[in-house]
Amino acid sequence: MSLHDSNSTREINGRPIHWKDKAGVVHAAEGNWLMSRDFCLWTVCGSADVPANTGYHPGDGDKVTCEACLSKQ
Ligand SMILES: [Zn+2]
Repeated sequence: MSLHDSNSTREINGRPIHWKDKAGVVHAAEGNWLMSRDFCLWTVCGSADVPANTGYHPGDGDKVTCEACLSKQ
């Protein structure tokens, strides 16, 4: 089974997920529930897996700056 199947989501509780990498680039994140309790998260552009508990819900004015992520939204 692929992780990138129809169970994938770009929102948790109706809100998008962002993740900032070490270079300060903000990516959109996409995730999937595995085994019903482990939430697996990765960047939409596919450049990285998001480490546990480092994704966040963006605040006002917090925009995705990764061009690869933006091109896939
Ligand atoms: Zn990205």
